[in-house]
Amino acid sequence: EAYLQAIERANPALNAYVVVTDDKARDMAKASDAKLAKGEGGSLEGIPLGIKDLFGTEGVHTQACSHVLDGFKPHYESTVTANLWADGAVMLGKLNMDEFAMGSSNETSYYGPVVNPWRRSRLDTVVMPTTHQGDGSFVTAGGTRTARTLDNAQLVPGGSSGGSASAVSALLCAGATATDTGGSIRQPAAFTGTVGIKPTYGRCSRWGIVAFASSLDQAGPIARDVRDAAILLKSMASVDPKDTTSVDRPVPDYEAAIGKPIKGMKVGIPREYRVDGMPDEIEALWQKGIAWLKDAGAEIVDISLPHTKYALPAYYIVAPAEASSNLARYDGVRYGLRVPGKDIVDMYETTRAAGFGREVKRRIMIGTYVLSAGYYDAYYLQAQKVRNLIKRDFENAFAAGVDVILTPATPSAAFGIADEDMAADPVKMYLNDIFTVTVNMAGLPGIAVPAGLDAKGLPLGLQLIGRPFDEETLFQTAHVIE
Ligand code: GLN
Repeated sequence: EAYLQAIERANPALNAYVVVTDDKARDMAKASDAKLAKGEGGSLEGIPLGIKDLFGTEGVHTQACSHVLDGFKPHYESTVTANLWADGAVMLGKLNMDEFAMGSSNETSYYGPVVNPWRRSRLDTVVMPTTHQGDGSFVTAGGTRTARTLDNAQLVPGGSSGGSASAVSALLCAGATATDTGGSIRQPAAFTGTVGIKPTYGRCSRWGIVAFASSLDQAGPIARDVRDAAILLKSMASVDPKDTTSVDRPVPDYEAAIGKPIKGMKVGIPREYRVDGMPDEIEALWQKGIAWLKDAGAEIVDISLPHTKYALPAYYIVAPAEASSNLARYDGVRYGLRVPGKDIVDMYETTRAAGFGREVKRRIMIGTYVLSAGYYDAYYLQAQKVRNLIKRDFENAFAAGVDVILTPATPSAAFGIADEDMAADPVKMYLNDIFTVTVNMAGLPGIAVPAGLDAKGLPLGLQLIGRPFDEETLFQTAHVIE
């Protein structure tokens, strides 16, 4: 009830939830109460969670925040959410996101932008407050002090899991599901002072999650702290016969890794992540992170990931290519929206023209182009080769004994809604993913952990990248930073 009330109060301003499943939440909570009263219940019994709108939830609005999926309520439950419910979690509702998870600001949603609960502030010199003398006169206490004044500009929560990050940060759920194709868990977590982990590709089943770029998509949690993220991931992860890319490996007790000393651990610092134009405060944050891990006994080593600079351009070929294929199924026949036409081809075209937003159309066009007969070799095939080189860079670093890699999570703090630079040039928006996409290209696990505030009081995050299926080391190390 407390969460439902908080959502009712704060959601009109934040737009984090697109649907609140209050009746369902109450039913699930009652069932949990009954179990707990009998001393039974799972690891998440009664814990209220928000679910990104990309996860198929049986009988409940699932639209990937797109108009083209209007009215779609699946008859199935995604494996990840089914795992959470089996452990006793309670669903509060579906969370806003960029349309089909394409974006870095949560501004491409059909349901409008999500607002970051954080605000910029300014350090101001203010005159000390006046005191009322009782006779109608005032005296000032004299002197000045420094105070923070809030700037009312609204900021983005990052994307595409902006609803998940905003809801967790504003305490509108205890934790949330999210997905990450090129940074969509880690970048919004960094922008909202929350923890987000993208596990190794194959750790969570993708079954029942609306597909964006199938070879990159992974589910993971956004949570208030590292421990919560560990508990949630433990429940979400599983091998699944319905997703043949999910991997049959025991899911360790991630929570047990938290608090273990990191003495002697080898932390790699990739020199190629020191990109041109990186703000000084991001560099300073990175140095702070290095110092904390060193103080905790880790050994810091410089490493080289030479193909880093090709990751972003290669990602923006591979991801749209897969998206253009995955999104071919929205034809007005099988799901959601149908706009009638003169004949069936006209119906496909009018439905897709009306149903997809601008960014999604841009991706479909790029993807179709790079897969077309004349350009496949020059773009798609080339990008796949680059992807292999990126993967090999990481393999070499780990083979040389590095246990974990530390980088900034994002090249800046949260920016303003309707930022003119980003709106005018989509490539500027794509640059947000500069530190995160390499991890998806290589299929590795990555975690974003809050590490400090910028000069305007906004949260900044650091990222840790681990060996395949070694999420434990990420939780262990992230806990030292948080
Ligand atoms: N921002 C990236 C994109 O727009 C990543 C999105 C994601 O991880 N889902 O493709």
